[in-house]
Amino acid sequence: MVNQTSDGESLLPGPGRGARVGEHISPAMDRSDTILGGFLRRGEMSMQIRTWMVPALAGLALVCGPAAAAQQAPDFSKVQIKATKVSGNIYMLEGEGGNVGASVGEDGIVIVDDQFAPLAEKIQAALKNLGITDKPVRFVINTHYHGDHTGGNVPFNNAGSTLIAQDNVRKRLEAGGIAGNGSSIKREIKPAEKAALPIITFEHDVTVHLNGEDIRALHFPSGHTDGDSIIFFPKNNVVHMGDDFVRYGFPFIDVASGGSVQGMIDAMEKATAQLPADVKVIPGHGALSNLDDVRAFTKMLKETSAVVQKAINDHKTLDQMKQEKILAPWAKWKSDFVNEDAFIETLYNSLTGHKGEFVKHN
Ligand SMILES: [Zn+2]
Repeated sequence: MVNQTSDGESLLPGPGRGARVGEHISPAMDRSDTILGGFLRRGEMSMQIRTWMVPALAGLALVCGPAAAAQQAPDFSKVQIKATKVSGNIYMLEGEGGNVGASVGEDGIVIVDDQFAPLAEKIQAALKNLGITDKPVRFVINTHYHGDHTGGNVPFNNAGSTLIAQDNVRKRLEAGGIAGNGSSIKREIKPAEKAALPIITFEHDVTVHLNGEDIRALHFPSGHTDGDSIIFFPKNNVVHMGDDFVRYGFPFIDVASGGSVQGMIDAMEKATAQLPADVKVIPGHGALSNLDDVRAFTKMLKETSAVVQKAINDHKTLDQMKQEKILAPWAKWKSDFVNEDAFIETLYNSLTGHKGEFVKHN
């Protein structure tokens, strides 16, 4: 792709960096700091998964949400899609899997993430039932490659939507591999079929100009995975954080897919520092949120990673850290998906660079 300097700044001028399709997508010229600044400038407003290989789930990548803790695949026939108006013409759709963000307007529909294939028709019906447009989903932007965010790619692609994501999303979908925290959370990802692969990929950022808004996907390196994007809707003052920000407690950080706690912290700090105070935040999983929720989450990440780093510096082993329950003060963040021990493993592996069966895609 494009040559880069070590700090990620492109050596090429702006237009060489992104993707372009017709008049609807154009690369942004800004770097990440000014991209978030642009959000302001434009300023119209201001598992417990011990080993997690459930054969019944083959083909379903229940990777990063609470559903991953379930022993059985969800019954998709019973899932209902709930659409909530977030702001202006931006909606949040909840069903099973990651939250879907949607810009619905006169030019058509852009969605951010698409849950699971069996839900695609219900998602399309829920969008139509808003009564705003009969136009189709023209673009799907994936926040990262996990199957509970990209599972609908094939049906949406087959229905004519154009799939867009960061370069590493396509690489990881195409290659398959191991997702996990480097220890007890581990799942094999099968290579995706061609129709699931994003047609347009970008290294740093891309902007979709639709429904009177510059919908901007911006890559933040090495957070939940190595292909994460946060999606900004500046006119409507909404942001979709993908799984760099979730509401189910301790986050799953896919260190086996290039994620890291420091990258997640960096992404959240950069975003909270530059977004409008009243921005509405769609998390990767969980209820609609605000920046105070993001700050509390970031604070927990910083405190817990500092505790684990200190234990590493004190030459404690992973087992000692678990026995001493060093994350007990943050126990309210534990879930069946990522309990205290699993999060200690996550932080330990992230901070020591132990990534399990890591496959680098860069
Ligand atoms: Zn995920």
